[in-house]
Amino acid sequence: MACLQKSFTVRTESHQQVVDISAQVAAVVAEAGITTGLCLVFVPHATAAITVNENADPNIGVDFLRALKKMVIEHDDWLHDRVDNNAAAHIKAALIGPSETLPISNGRLALGTWQDIFVCEFDGPRTRREVSVTVWG
Ligand code: ZN
Repeated sequence: MACLQKSFTVRTESHQQVVDISAQVAAVVAEAGITTGLCLVFVPHATAAITVNENADPNIGVDFLRALKKMVIEHDDWLHDRVDNNAAAHIKAALIGPSETLPISNGRLALGTWQDIFVCEFDGPRTRREVSVTVWG
């Protein structure tokens, strides 16, 4: 059994944005040198999330953010808006979740052809969103 844990940071440019982090995660998996195992990708933030979705058409990310915006209305008299005015971002982050666990097969992430890993920014732009990657197997 081997384990490797590393983190990197992501800069976001918009209030809401999805950022593809597949290459950075794959680099940690390659460095771990594990043939079969699991990879946990986690953001230690309350207004960001991790998801896995299509990589080929960038409009999927645009549609995803638009759908969430319709589901969670900004400034809908949320109690938390009285604290720092970002309740919708917290709710979206909670719906999507702060992590994904992915299989490692034959030494690499066993993602589908159309799947990539994304950080979801819901309260940007931010200069430093931390992503923690734990690989074991
Ligand atoms: Zn807040």
